[in-house]
Amino acid sequence: MPTTLSLACENTPDLAATMQLQLPALAWQMIGAGAWQRTFHLHGQGIRVRVESDRGGLRFSFRTGPEEELLRNLLTATFRNGEQVGAMALAGHPALSALRRHHQGMILLAGSPFETLVLAVLAQTRPAAAVRKVFPRLAAECGGLTPQRLLALPLPRLTQLVRPLGAVKAARLHATAAILTRRGTTLFDQLIGGSDSGALNNLLTSLPGVGTHTAAVVMTIVNDAADTVPIDQHLMRVAYRLGLTDYDGGLTNPGCRRVAADLLAYGPDLARVHPLIQQVAYDTCTVSTPDCRRCFLAESCRHAARTA
Ligand code: SF4
Repeated sequence: MPTTLSLACENTPDLAATMQLQLPALAWQMIGAGAWQRTFHLHGQGIRVRVESDRGGLRFSFRTGPEEELLRNLLTATFRNGEQVGAMALAGHPALSALRRHHQGMILLAGSPFETLVLAVLAQTRPAAAVRKVFPRLAAECGGLTPQRLLALPLPRLTQLVRPLGAVKAARLHATAAILTRRGTTLFDQLIGGSDSGALNNLLTSLPGVGTHTAAVVMTIVNDAADTVPIDQHLMRVAYRLGLTDYDGGLTNPGCRRVAADLLAYGPDLARVHPLIQQVAYDTCTVSTPDCRRCFLAESCRHAARTA
């Protein structure tokens, strides 16, 4: 029997932006008319869920089954009970207020730890569309992504599935699954949700193919880490042009730490909204010629003011 779950939101939900900008959204597929779909694998059972905007909130549809309560809790947690960017503490700089206004209907998604880690590795240097093709096949083949289930997938089959996203990722993910299965799963679970970001960072960066940027991405999603920001050259560029930082050097470790500290000085929510700033880099704030006339941040941007 099909059933529904409704989630109330303060602002009209912007499902398109929610599904475009974030790593956990790469597990979802657009199925037309503003609706998105993915399969959750609960205790090995695949349950397809559809989500769409409805009467100022979100409506989820799925088939009723023994895992219904678990699924309801999972959906509510994934969509953070409807909490939106419009309610976040983004102030202290006009560009942040503009960012909050522009994305007020967007929900910053949460993700389960291992699935988020896998998505982060798959997405390294690859476009979202390519990840969206690979991920559901991988999750279905495993019957849900846990270290044990991924490890049980023969490496040649994993390689075949993941190859479109890079030749080395299958081996790295397999090795990560082996490490977490053999000796790390309990530690990983304990550190997720804990307050020791340093220990979680050390564990993540010890895994094959997980550098400081990937670790920071995972931590901001699964652990709500408010003391780390994933810095790359795109975020660094936009932050400097907007005037959120005065660092204009290269992508060095001290440089990344400096930019992260400058951003976090505006408050802990800066950690969670980093994908919004990054998206500006892809949309209008390109390396060579920023298209300020098209940018919604132009009125609050230092670079735009200087070059007008
Ligand atoms: S206004 Fe121009 S420089 Fe400023 S963030 Fe937008 S595109 Fe970049």
